[in-house]
Order: sequence, then structure tokens, then C-alpha cells
Amino acid sequence: MNKKIDVIIIGGGIGGLMNAYQLMETNPMLNIVILEKGLPLNRRVCPLITGKVDHCIHCKHCAIMEGMAGAGAFSDGKYIISTEYGGWLTDFMPAKEVMSNIEHADQILQKFGATDHRYQPDTDLKHLCLQYDLHMNLAQVKHLGTDANFQTMANLIESLKDRVDIRTESTVVDVDKETKTVMVDHKGEKYTLHADHIVFAIGRAGSDFFAKWCVKNGIPLENNQVDIGVRVELPYDIWSHFSTKIYEPKIWYRSKKYGDITRMFCFNERGHVVIENTHGVQTVNGHAFKDEAKKTGNSNFALLSTIKFTTPFNEPIEYARHIARLANMISGGSVLVQRFGDLMQGRRSDHRRLNQSTTYPTLGAVPGDLSLCIPKRQLDNIVETLQALDKVAPGTANTDTLLYGIECKYYSARPKTTNFELDKCKGIYALGDGAGFTRSLSHAAAHGIIIADTITKR
Ligand SMILES: Cc1cc2nc3c(=O)[nH]c(=O)nc-3n(C[C@H](O)[C@H](O)[C@H](O)COP(=O)(O)OP(=O)(O)OC[C@H]3O[C@@H](n4cnc5c(N)ncnc54)[C@H](O)[C@@H]3O)c2cc1C
Repeated sequence: MNKKIDVIIIGGGIGGLMNAYQLMETNPMLNIVILEKGLPLNRRVCPLITGKVDHCIHCKHCAIMEGMAGAGAFSDGKYIISTEYGGWLTDFMPAKEVMSNIEHADQILQKFGATDHRYQPDTDLKHLCLQYDLHMNLAQVKHLGTDANFQTMANLIESLKDRVDIRTESTVVDVDKETKTVMVDHKGEKYTLHADHIVFAIGRAGSDFFAKWCVKNGIPLENNQVDIGVRVELPYDIWSHFSTKIYEPKIWYRSKKYGDITRMFCFNERGHVVIENTHGVQTVNGHAFKDEAKKTGNSNFALLSTIKFTTPFNEPIEYARHIARLANMISGGSVLVQRFGDLMQGRRSDHRRLNQSTTYPTLGAVPGDLSLCIPKRQLDNIVETLQALDKVAPGTANTDTLLYGIECKYYSARPKTTNFELDKCKGIYALGDGAGFTRSLSHAAAHGIIIADTITKR
């Protein structure tokens, strides 16, 4: 007879892992199963990054987004130790409580190898930004680097292996909310599991599935904002007066033309620009290694314009994907890169112009014209913000600054919950990025702990 399962966690990203870890720490006798649709961490290999292919071949499981350790596995491993940004948990509980869970998650990660070094906020830089109507968030930041973050995740998973039943290549295809039965597809074979508690920790890779499941089960959803724009790549020196002090400048600007907010974030010092594939749509992102040998001469950051739709439109994610698909179409199935100077002169970048660039691209994107796919309003916002940023970091708006597109951050639709328990679904919870509560490693990790403690109290 099957052993009774206490908790099924759907998704083996940082939120799901922290949830399992905290549950095991407080209730060692619990029988916990993690179901992860992707591969074990050591088998997650992106053929594009390893140079086996020159364009994304849409692997069955995207090694960047899916698999044990989730979307953060190959990330830059920046951990925001603050509630100022990184998620919306403070909409549901006091900031102090959120912060104490962020700190708790950090202590756990340090046990598994994360550095204890924190970059401190710098008020002089904040003042400099303010002089140009640029607004910099102040927060402590930890930077593990892609390699050290990967190893920390590997150590955390290793510590869980003997205590938690971890099943990879196991996609949850449905959940019966009345009987709490989970339908699993393991390499084409279907089976069911039953548990007292179920936690959706599905990340962005599972947000579509989760939103559809909510609609089918009558759980009200609320749409969040969508951010659309580009990844900016430029020589390391241009932002080094910020990055050497605070590592990650997070700066927002309200455009004069439209009054829209554009944000600079996800800074990667001496890093790489990478392609991300979500449900067959290719977008860009960035990361950086800690290992000196893997560093590049460039830094990169996201520059995204925020859109909040009003009625009757309620499909912000589809809107962002539509724009990203346009860039995929124009580039022949890849992503675009354009020099800022070419964009300003109203002409595409081509191989000849890109070869003349003094900023050498770290990603083999297709040279083209971003104005053919980014809507005018967002493109104007991006140009205006780059010009404002140029005042605090001269060189940002140079001719050879590279813009990759599309980068978008769509924050999943958020379900109606009480203490993160889904509306009228006793014992079923949702956490992390896939349910629209967080948008960062540290906040998703904290959320895992918060829900574990809620389950324990039950
Ligand atoms: C390239 C990249 C770089 C990033 N860099 C940073 C950074 O430096 N700092 C930062 O704070 N954030 C960063 N992020 C964001 C960060 O990774 C996420 O905020 C974080 O991973 C969210 O954690 P999560 O547990 O909610 O979801 P995820 O980490 O996405 O994990 C969800 C898991 O659920 C699995 N899953 C989905 N659906 C199902 C299903 N039906 N059945 C079974 N399993 C399922 C997925 O395969 C996935 O492994 C980055 C993201 C990317 C892609």
C-alpha cells in the first residue's frame, strides 16, 4: 500500500525547495514529495549555452527555466535582502515579518555555501541619481555568481535527497481540489498521488498551467503588471562606479513624455546576455559568473517599461509574448540586437555595423531593428531613460551600446487566497513567481518558508 503523503510540492525551484526544507526542519516525520517537470540539476544543460547549436531548438524541458533549482539555477544569484522590491508579499503581511523570513532563507542558504558578504546601499549614489530625476532603490544585496549559486542549490537539494521524495520529469497535469489528488505525467506514464496539503510552487514556467487550473476551478485571478523592454549591454567601466560599490543599481525613471515608469534592474557585472525560452517564446536575460576566468569585459542590465492595462483588456502576459514573438519572427527564430546609435538614426543594425562596434556582444543575437517590434510608447520610454541614465553613468547612451530584445517580465496572474491558501481550496497553497506573489530568489525562498510555517501550524 502507498505510504500516506502529507505534503506534495509542485515545482522544485527555490520556493519549493525552501518549503520542503523548512517543513523537514520543523516536522522531520512528514512524508513530502516534490514533483518537478524538468530534469535533475546535474542534467540541466542548455545546448545553446554550451555552443552545441546556434539557435534555440525548443528542448522538451528548457534547461534554463525548468528542472531542479528552477529558473534560478543558472541565474546570477543576486539575493535582495530587502522588502523594497523583489515581490509583493508585503501586500499580505507586515514588512517586518517578510524581512525576517528573507533573513531566515539567507541563513539556510549560507549553510549550503552562500557567501555572507553583502553589498551595502550607498546614499551618495542615490543623491547623484536624484539630481537627474532618477530614483535608486536602497537595499542590501548579495551576489553569489552563477557558479556559486548553482553549487549552493546543489548542496541544498543533496541535503533533502534522503528526507524528501524528489521526482523529476514528473509534470503535474491536474489537481482535484476536492479529493486533493494530483495527476502526474512521468515520461508519458500517468499516475495519481493524494496528499493532505498541496503547494503550487510552479514558477513562471508553470504560470500558464496554474492560471488555467484556477479558471477551471473557479478561483478568481487578478492580473499584475507587465514590463517590456530590452537588455542593455555596455563596457564594464561605464557603470563600475556603481557596481563596485553596490553591485546592483536598481533605478527607476518617470518619462516626461508619458509619465510611465521605466526600470533599470537585474544588473550583471562583467556578465553574459542569454536567451530564455518560455513556452516556445524566446526572450533575453543576463547572468554573470563569480569565477574570474568566466567574466567578460561587459556589464548588462534590464531596462523595462511598465504597463498596467485597464478594462476591458486583461491579457498582459499574452501582450508581452506577442511582442516577443514579433522579435523572434523578425530575427528568423532568435532574438534581436541593435546598437543604440543605429536605433537613434532610424536604421537597423546589420553584421557590418555590428562588426564595427566597440562593444563586443556576448550573445550571438541577430542584428536588426527593435523599432519594428517594440511599440512606440515603450521604445520612447526606453530611449528617454537611457538618456537620463547617461547623466549619472556617461557612456550609457553611446552609439555602440547594445540593446537586445525582447526582454519582458510578466508577473503571473495572482489567485485569490487567505494566508496563501487558495480560495475555497482547503489545504491547497500557491507560492512564488508562478502565482504572482514574488519576482526574485530571496522573496520566493522566504515565501516557501512562510507557507511551510502555515502548514506546520495546521
Ligand atoms: C536567467 C535568469 C536569471 C535570474 N536572475 C535572478 C537573480 O539574479 N536574482 C533574483 O532574485 N532572481 C533572478 N531570477 C528570477 C528567479 O529565478 C525567480 O524569481 C525564482 O526562481 C522564482 O522561484 P520559484 O520557486 O517561484 O519558481 P522557479 O524557480 O521558476 O521554479 C518553479 C519550478 O516549477 C516547475 N514546474 C512548473 N510547472 C510544473 C508542473 N506542472 N509540474 C511540475 N513542475 C512544474 C518548473 O519546471 C520549475 O523548476 C532570474 C531568472 C532567470 C530565468
